[in-house]
Amino acid sequence: MQQAEALRQSLIACRRDLHRHPELGYQEHRTAGIVAEALRELGMEVRTGVAQTGVVGLLEGEGPGPTLMLRFDMDALPIQEETGAPYASSVSGVMHACGHDGHTAIGLAVARLLHARRGSWNGRAKFVFQPAEEGLGGAARMVQDGVLEAPEVDYALGLHLWNARPVGWMGITGGPVMAGADKMKVRVRGSGAHAAAPHQAHDPVVAAAHIVTALQTVISRDLNPLHAAVLSVTTIRCGKAFNVIPSEAEMEGTLRTFHPHVREMIIERVREIAAGVAQGLGCEAGVEVELLTPAVVNDIELARRVQQVAGWLWPQATIESDARTMMADDVAVLMNEVPGCYVLLGANDPQRGLDAPHHNPRFDFDEESLVRGAALLAAAAQDLLG
Ligand SMILES: [Zn+2]
Ligand SMILES: [Zn+2]
Repeated sequence: MQQAEALRQSLIACRRDLHRHPELGYQEHRTAGIVAEALRELGMEVRTGVAQTGVVGLLEGEGPGPTLMLRFDMDALPIQEETGAPYASSVSGVMHACGHDGHTAIGLAVARLLHARRGSWNGRAKFVFQPAEEGLGGAARMVQDGVLEAPEVDYALGLHLWNARPVGWMGITGGPVMAGADKMKVRVRGSGAHAAAPHQAHDPVVAAAHIVTALQTVISRDLNPLHAAVLSVTTIRCGKAFNVIPSEAEMEGTLRTFHPHVREMIIERVREIAAGVAQGLGCEAGVEVELLTPAVVNDIELARRVQQVAGWLWPQATIESDARTMMADDVAVLMNEVPGCYVLLGANDPQRGLDAPHHNPRFDFDEESLVRGAALLAAAAQDLLG
């Protein structure tokens, strides 16, 4: 913890520099350059250009042992920042509104901490700085580019700053922790006509409206109330003129689930409802579902060990062992392959106004969380590689 404290100033400076210069997914050139240079300064073997802009550094411990992957995401979002902070984004329309600037800074601090203590642990720490987490499939691209091989990864650790909770709170959950996300598209085909002659049309607008309403029953009537899932219809597109009944309507939405059997049940019900309601109204409907990321499922034993480490570091901390969110993170793709633990790290300070939600233009967090995150991951890594 003392060593992490000594890193406080450099952590904050690094995070603020990254915050000022946010880069969207697969465009993290400046960020990747800073990361690669910092890892090379520690004498690490560094691979760049992994999944386009990702960086992987390998740090060897004292003797032989397992390989632990530590994963940090680097990308920003297409949001115009409104924090007014002195370190606010200098790039119009681009902002670190999810905290990935903090994750990258934490990753470099963990590298420094483990490097300084490298005589006291075995095996290897594989530092993975991932591009394009925000819905762009960066983790899957990294797997394709061999991030889990050479050397083969045995465990994975990572964290997400969590602005719904204060500094001092940690969500370290064994089992499902972040939901899997699907993108859904419903196409309704009818037949168009003059708006004054609806009897000559099969109106897809009316059918779409009924489908949206009927879909509300999937979670409320079909899902076991002891399970969790979200189904949100978020866009409806149809028609171009006030006096024309269009021939097609299209809706998009998202589905969030923790278990594959719940996901399959909901998709089946969406297909049945869309097709059935459309048919009843003289239209046809087709449903396309695209899996964006599976659920993040933590390894039970690994989560227990990380909880234990957090308890040693901060006996007063609030460690929640069944924290879950319906938000998604593509770290799931990595943690589906190897046992992993993804920590949600409390980061807000409402008194200072640092509690806007993730992806909000006023998102900002208490930088004290950076010190906590670096200390926790370094200590947990050392424990696993002890
Ligand atoms: Zn995000
Ligand atoms: Zn994020």
